[in-house]
Order: sequence, then structure tokens, then C-alpha cells
Amino acid sequence: MRLLVVGGGGREHALCWALRRENPEAQIYCAPGNPGTAELASNLSIAADDLDRLADAADMHGIDLTIIGPEAPLAHGLADRLRAEGRLVFGPSAAAAQLEASKAFAKEVMFAAGVPTAASQAFSDLAPALAYVDRHAEPLVVKASGLAGGKGAVVCATRAEAGKTVRAMLEGDQFGAAGKTVVIEAFLEGEEISVLALTDGRDVELLPVAQDHKRLLEGDRGPNTGGMGAYSPVALATPALLERVKREVLYPTLEQMRRQKTPFSGVLYAGLMVDAEGTPSVVEFNCRLGDPEAQVVLPLVSGGLTDSFMRVAEGKTPSSLELGSQAAVTTVLASRGYPDAPETGAAIVLPKSQAGGVTVFHAGTTRGQDGVLRASGGRVLTVTAVAASFSEAQRLSREAADAVRFEGKIFRGDIGWREAARRAERSPAAAR
Ligand code: AMP
Repeated sequence: MRLLVVGGGGREHALCWALRRENPEAQIYCAPGNPGTAELASNLSIAADDLDRLADAADMHGIDLTIIGPEAPLAHGLADRLRAEGRLVFGPSAAAAQLEASKAFAKEVMFAAGVPTAASQAFSDLAPALAYVDRHAEPLVVKASGLAGGKGAVVCATRAEAGKTVRAMLEGDQFGAAGKTVVIEAFLEGEEISVLALTDGRDVELLPVAQDHKRLLEGDRGPNTGGMGAYSPVALATPALLERVKREVLYPTLEQMRRQKTPFSGVLYAGLMVDAEGTPSVVEFNCRLGDPEAQVVLPLVSGGLTDSFMRVAEGKTPSSLELGSQAAVTTVLASRGYPDAPETGAAIVLPKSQAGGVTVFHAGTTRGQDGVLRASGGRVLTVTAVAASFSEAQRLSREAADAVRFEGKIFRGDIGWREAARRAERSPAAAR
């Protein structure tokens, strides 16, 4: 089997790792990949958004299945392009990827389908947007409608701040074209979880539920980032809650997408806020695996992943995934200055050996002619630990994060703190 993974971050390294584990004999390519994927796959130096060259490469290497990692190439129509050339692709069409690429579109789908989500309205003109802010209760959330690398949502404590943010997006250039339409919505209280479903557009197969840590600093303070760490599974996500999420969120959304002739296949990722009563509301949809969620979710799947990707690409119901009872925690190692202006170029020293269950996924690294591994992006590495218990995985991930060395390394040592608190509350003795 010949597989092509498109993308070059931690998620794609985790994809290559999971595919390699299930398919020791497969020929795996990764475009553009990174020094981590180079150990598992053949890297092709083609950017993830270079549709022409990717289509040529799929042809040249006789690719049987392409798995598209990031949202941008999906939104630009890479899946459509490859399908038009008769190839099997895991990932939605450009029209279906609008569920992530346009928050205004996603909100319309949710309202049409009766999916629970915050009250909101989309605006491209300043005056009506400011009038909306004036009419609504604080706090408000102002979002760039387009793709903004997970950083386009601003929680505003006051109307004045919301007004300023709306102005900055519609008049200024912080998010470029992505901010020329804004969605203004009510603030939702609760705890967030990420429910990732493999889907052919009709049926769903859930991956283990994850919780991301968007804020830069420990205790969930500081600016929003692409994600500073994640863990899985999440005890808050009971089987009863997940049934409800399927019934109230996933199935109605997929049905609405079919109804409006933009059927969705691939990973439907629902970012949910669960309130104190256990009621879920959608904060956002993504059209692909999360990063860093993939780095905890994929290692917990012990079989059935490749088969599911293939079946979904063929338009068939995803097969059942084999899931064990282990837990995973991943800690992102970022560069000083992230998310605004990360430093790059620092030499990275990885420990010679890792504890069992620990995998270091590369996110923003390069290896120069001199063979030295260097930081090349804001998020540099993600350190995943899989263990029999959550607390063991948390400890191992933190220790392994600590053991990696590079100048300017920053990371959160509290990934999974909500889960730890939940466990301590339930069983104080066990948590000690
Ligand atoms: P988004 O880009 O829509 O995923 O938003 C990024 C982050 O902002 C989310 O993960 C939440 O932490 C926060 N956020 C977005 N929308 C809301 C909301 N309506 N209420 C509370 N927090 C939100």
C-alpha cells in the first residue's frame, strides 16, 4: 500500500507514526513532512498547499490513499482536486471544509440544523456590528470568520473591548482577509472537550475524546495559541454525554450538510463547551484532526485506523476502531515569544533514550546540512506519553518535556490539570 500524508506538523508526525504502526510494510510519503516524519516515511519537499505538485506526486508515486492533515489545503480544494483525478482521499471537499474555514457558514449550518451553540451574528460592516455589541450582554466573543490558526477568537470581558476588537478585525489587518467578516457571539460557561468523529457523511466512529489547552500559560492564562497540550480520554465525556453529542450535534450537522449538497466526509471535530448541567454546545467545528489532539488520540487507537480512513475515502461507513484502556498526555514545547514572535534557530538536544510509552513528535523543527536539529517554528515538539493511568501519563509527559533541551524552550507543566482535579475530588486518597 502506498500512502501520502499531507502536512508537516506534529499532527502529521503522529499520523505517520500511527499509519506505520498499523502498516509496517507500507510505502508512506509525507509532504512536506519534518525531521520526525523522515524517520517513518519518505518526505517529499512539496508545500501542503501546492495542489499542482501534490497531484503530480500522487500520480508519480502511485498513491493509493491520501490523508490530508491541515485545514488550509482542504479549504483550498486539495481533496476535490485529487478525487477529480480518480484518487482516494481522506478529507472533506472545499465546500464541506467551510464548516471550519468560515465560522459564519458553520453558524448557519448549526442554526439550520438546530444544533446547540451560542447565539451569534456575522457582520462584514462596522456600524451594524458595533450596534450588535451595544445591544448584547457582556462578556462577548469576537471571532475572525476565516482561518486564523486557532488564534482568531477573542473573549472580551466588556462591550468596549468587544467594540475595539471588532474594529481591529474589520478595519485593521490583524487577521487579514480572515477577519473581514466577524462572528460576534455570547460567551459560554463550562469546560471544553474535543469530540473527533471519523465519518463518511452519514455514520460516525468516535475517536477517544480529548481536551486541548489553548492558553499559553499554566492555569489557562495568557493569550490563545494553536494549543499547548492535550490529554485523552476525558472522564467528563461519559458514554451518555457522547450519545447526546451524536444525537444533538453530529448527526444533525451531517444531515444538514447532505441536505445543502455539501456532504462532509473525513474527521468532523466538534469543539464543545459542556456546562455545569452537562449540556453540550458547539464552540467550533474543525474539518480535520486537531493538533495537538492527534498526538494523544492516535496513539490510543490500537487498530482499525487505516481501514477506517480507506473506507471513508471509498464512501463507506468507517470500521470500528480498537481502543484500549490507556491514557495519553502530550505537552507542547514551544519557542520563547510564541505565539506572537517565536524565536527560531536554537539547536535541540533530545535525550538518548526515552521512558517506555514516550514519543517525541516533531512540530516545528528542521535538520540542517550539519545534521543538527533546530527549532524552526512556534510549536517545536510535542511530547506524548501513553500509560496505564492518566496520572502516570501526565507524569511521564512532563518529565520527558523537561528532559528535552533547547534555548528558549517554554512549556506548560500542568497539562491535564482539570482531569487531575476531577480525580482528586472523586478519590482524594488515590490522587495522592
Ligand atoms: P474557536 O477559534 O472558535 O475555537 O475559539 C478559540 C477558543 O476561544 C475556544 O477554544 C474557547 O476557549 C474560546 N471561545 C470561543 N468561543 C467561545 C464562546 N462562545 N464562549 C466561551 N469561550 C469561547
